[in-house]
Amino acid sequence: MDFLLIPRKEEEIEKEQDVIIIGGGPAGLTAGIYTGRARLKTLLIEESSIGGLASLTATIENYPGFPEGITGKELSRRLEEQAKKFGTKILDAKVLSLTLDGIWKIVETTKGIYRAPSVIICSGTKPKKLGIPGEREFLGKGVSYCAVCDGAFFIGKKVAVVGGGDAAVEEALYLTHFAEEVYIIHRRDELRAEKITQEKAFSNPKIKFLWSHIVKKIEGDKKVERLILEDLKTKEEKIFPVDGVFIYIGLTPQTELYSSLLKLDENGFIITDENMQTSVPGIFAAGDVRVKSLRQIVTALSDGAIAGVSATKYLEEIKFKGGI
Ligand code: NAP
Repeated sequence: MDFLLIPRKEEEIEKEQDVIIIGGGPAGLTAGIYTGRARLKTLLIEESSIGGLASLTATIENYPGFPEGITGKELSRRLEEQAKKFGTKILDAKVLSLTLDGIWKIVETTKGIYRAPSVIICSGTKPKKLGIPGEREFLGKGVSYCAVCDGAFFIGKKVAVVGGGDAAVEEALYLTHFAEEVYIIHRRDELRAEKITQEKAFSNPKIKFLWSHIVKKIEGDKKVERLILEDLKTKEEKIFPVDGVFIYIGLTPQTELYSSLLKLDENGFIITDENMQTSVPGIFAAGDVRVKSLRQIVTALSDGAIAGVSATKYLEEIKFKGGI
């Protein structure tokens, strides 16, 4: 098989591709830029918003080259435009399964079955849940995992943010644009967020801290009205009135579909080598979904570029060997 050259008819998405990218966050879009530029017929499948979790970040301050910062939405829009410019097609569908048929990788989606010799998994992560009473019941009624989406509902109100990492502290800062009081509830007495972010939070008069506390229950009538907290040092339980609670306690990889096919670590992240190659030849993984030490947009972009080039080399190799 010769690699199919772009441009192609806009309206149709052929069932047979050179590369299928699963996930349209920064890693997936960057992989699409690279495979598109390699003139590979590339399909990117995304089930929700293009840009992934990054698109829900208010301002990205540590993305190199943008000293004034850039919004997650704008960066995602630019990456999408660039991937499309080089011919990557985007399909709005949910991936249901990934299986093997010889050299072919079969991707079943809610909009049909597609196949390609090479797949790049960039399915990212989703927010971890506390798993406490009230969390599920009050979702959208005061419980949120997205300050950018829901912050504006809390103008002049009192909200809590659970967690002590970059996401919790950055989003607490963002919430001060709306809420009157923002309480960061953290299970330890030290944050793990970047120092510069910590400094901003410590100097913001709207942010207060509840150190060494955990949330045991979320309560209310029709919407969130209070949290039941435990002070881990004194073991004392407290009622803490709030209008909303934003939960940022880390990320879980979206790898359920791949657990029997690929090698994952004990937390479910995909194991790759430095070329983003997974345990199955021709399947690559990039971005937050893989085992790595630094989960940042800049490293997701870098992974995506490497995965795109690795997929290109893989296709050249199997073509040379007469595999397709
Ligand atoms: P994270 O760094 O894993 O932090 C999770 C926080 O939640 C930690 O403070 C942790 O406490 C706390 N936590 C975990 N489980 C908990 C539980 N069951 N109950 C109460 N608290 C709990 O997660 P993240 O902030 O979502 O960030 C994820 C990754 O994305 C990180 O690598 C982060 O650096 C990156 N990120 C970067 C940026 C940026 O650079 N601008 C922004 C957002 C995210 P302990 O500290 O006690 O473990």
